[in-house]
Amino acid sequence: MNGFSTRAIHAGQEPDPTTGSVIVPIYATSTFAQDSVGETRGGYDYSRTANPTRTALAECLASLERGRHGFAFSSGMAATDLLLRTSLKPNDHLLIPHDAYGGTFRLIDKVFTEWGVTYTPVNLADLDAVRAALRDTTRMIWCETPTNPMLGIADISMLAEVTRDIGARLVVDNTFASPYLQTPLSLGADVVVQSTTKYIGGHSDLVGGAVVTNDDELADVIAFAHNATGAVPGPFDAWLTLRGLKTLAVRMERHCDNAERVAAALVGHPKITRVHYPGLPDHPGHEVAAKQMHRFGGMVSFQVSADGGTAAGGADPAAAALRVCAATKLFTLAESLGGVESLIEHPARMTHASVKGSALQVPADLVRLSVGIEDADDLIEDLLAALG
Ligand SMILES: *Cc1c(COP(=O)(O)O)cnc(C)c1O
Repeated sequence: MNGFSTRAIHAGQEPDPTTGSVIVPIYATSTFAQDSVGETRGGYDYSRTANPTRTALAECLASLERGRHGFAFSSGMAATDLLLRTSLKPNDHLLIPHDAYGGTFRLIDKVFTEWGVTYTPVNLADLDAVRAALRDTTRMIWCETPTNPMLGIADISMLAEVTRDIGARLVVDNTFASPYLQTPLSLGADVVVQSTTKYIGGHSDLVGGAVVTNDDELADVIAFAHNATGAVPGPFDAWLTLRGLKTLAVRMERHCDNAERVAAALVGHPKITRVHYPGLPDHPGHEVAAKQMHRFGGMVSFQVSADGGTAAGGADPAAAALRVCAATKLFTLAESLGGVESLIEHPARMTHASVKGSALQVPADLVRLSVGIEDADDLIEDLLAALG
């Protein structure tokens, strides 16, 4: 059982032992009967600790990420929070991407610094900058690749070497690629984090997260903290995530097909100054992406030239980008990503509003697309019409 789709459909998902149900049931129960004190019928006693629907999801996610230990969380941020809390101590230092996911930045900057953790935002694509930012107290590099929303690419195996040299951990937030396109643990990362809300769930109908690792000791610590703090998904969300996961490979192929077509259609457009997509040969991370990813993903961002242009400089650099976001009909204006339907958003005022004024601030003229699996011709027509 080695193929990706075979594992997505079967790993952790044997037919139900009592009824033969082919699909893992939604075990909507908080507690489990014991035959005598401490004698359970399969290891389950209380659903915060473990629930069979959630166990199936955690095992499937672990298998897809090529890890031994998987944990399903109530959100991507809950997964991130628990991993940071169990891996870092006051006075520890970590590196984060200079265009980290806004929520991750906010959590570290507003919550973990209160607790005495320090961090440095750095361009993880620049290994000299990474080495220069290391301190004696650096315990972790937090990596996203591709990054959100600039689609920057970091070299996971090179970063793994850096963290190994200093006895720190490399964590990869693999949300943008999904395990279908990239398995960081196979490239030397210690831990993978996922927002399953995105490509893994794939249908914009749930919020969830995951942590996967091959580190047995860390897994014990996470298992304890997961039960102790309780950020678990309910059985219905775990089941929905499993349902989405089964089609991840076919969805991802189509997301990639469509994103490649959309990026190609935007390149050279008179109103667009830059298109960011790692599949484009002139993208600075193209070679690294081609080496570590199966394909280049479904996310595309681009910068719109400020229009009208009173050369006096009065033009709002965001105005043209905001107009494009409001003008598409098929691309829905919304946060989030990774669903079957195409979404458009303005990072500076939406997903990344919390990084305004920080080192992570994103360009005002940037538009981000989550390219869905509709017909590419319709998507391109919609974008070209919105660009005018
Ligand atoms: C959405 C997202 C998260 C946070 O996940 P939630 O499920 O929204 O809590 C973390 N990292 C990345 C890259 C994301 O896109």
